[in-house]
Amino acid sequence: MSLPFSLNPTLETLPVYLPGRPIEEVARELGLPAKDIIKVASNENPLGPSPLALAAIEKAAKQLHLYPDGNAFYFKQKLAEHLDLQTGNLILGNGSNEIIEFLGHALMELGSNIVVSDYCFAIYPIVAKMLDAEVISVPARDYGHDLPAMLQAITPKTKIIFVANPNNPTGTLASAKDVMDLVNGVPDHVVLVMDEAYIEFLVGAVDLLPMIRSAKKPNLILMRTFSKIYGLAGLRLGYGIGHPDLIKALEKIRQPFNINSLAQAAGLAALSDDEHVRKTRQNNLDGRAYFEKELTHLGLEFVPSAANFIMVKVGDGKGVFEKMQGQGVITRPMGGYKLPEWIRISIGTPAENERCLAALKKVLGKP
Ligand SMILES: *Cc1c(COP(=O)(O)O)cnc(C)c1O
Repeated sequence: MSLPFSLNPTLETLPVYLPGRPIEEVARELGLPAKDIIKVASNENPLGPSPLALAAIEKAAKQLHLYPDGNAFYFKQKLAEHLDLQTGNLILGNGSNEIIEFLGHALMELGSNIVVSDYCFAIYPIVAKMLDAEVISVPARDYGHDLPAMLQAITPKTKIIFVANPNNPTGTLASAKDVMDLVNGVPDHVVLVMDEAYIEFLVGAVDLLPMIRSAKKPNLILMRTFSKIYGLAGLRLGYGIGHPDLIKALEKIRQPFNINSLAQAAGLAALSDDEHVRKTRQNNLDGRAYFEKELTHLGLEFVPSAANFIMVKVGDGKGVFEKMQGQGVITRPMGGYKLPEWIRISIGTPAENERCLAALKKVLGKP
């Protein structure tokens, strides 16, 4: 490196997160109009943003000369009501990714460790490594989290155990029994982070909110987001749900204006958009069933998913990703997750699903 000063040496070995490729970028590269390209790479909502959120943004835009409310009073009030919690149970993040960072700053340091699963969400280990904490990665079971083994992997130096349920990128869902055993079995010195980014897609999800309401588990925090079912990924709005004392500690780390005023207005409106949530959930159930049927028909292995995406074994994941991209279909190669034979496909609209499958068939030479 040619900089005349030294950087934090941790940066030298820090893994880099590779996001799904933006439509515009691929369009420029292929010399195609953006409208001819579909992106099924980042688990975004194929039905678009909540219409109620869009209307609220238009209204709020007129006040953009003012700083946002640093405490997001109205949005938090509404969110607390929606979840039947107190506002003191909530911390807002610039996407739930920022909550992961708050947790890192609050808890991780040299000599400490975090426990994750193989094939876990990529941000957990990146934040831990940035903060010099060790990452203990527990082998997966059928591509899913082995929660009893993760509990066993905890050491006296463990600060956080991260569990995404359903998990991204595998789509796997832990059993209700395993989740409750984990919540009840996690030692007091460890914070259990349950990442519920996809919980709204589930039917009959394990409900951990009563544990928060009872305030008996100060070492439990849930994370949720407006990026997935509410279709607001571009707005960056997520939140953590926990014991008021833990929330207070995290609030010290949060920058005052991390949630912009458009996000506050849109989030508030989106919480009332039951229609959009219902349509999105149904579209997802239908689309996932379509992929399961067609992939089975093609004899392709996939991991049964509880979320809004599906991981498919295609052989050369990177090669298939590139060739599908050449046909204007952006998926996600899984090499970065040590799954080089797999790609991940986000469930789209029926038309997108058909186009994606046709591109996959063509690339694999399947009739
Ligand atoms: C998409 C996703 C998130 C949400 O990220 P945002 O920062 O809220 O957009 C969090 N965790 C997992 C596992 C995800 O897949």
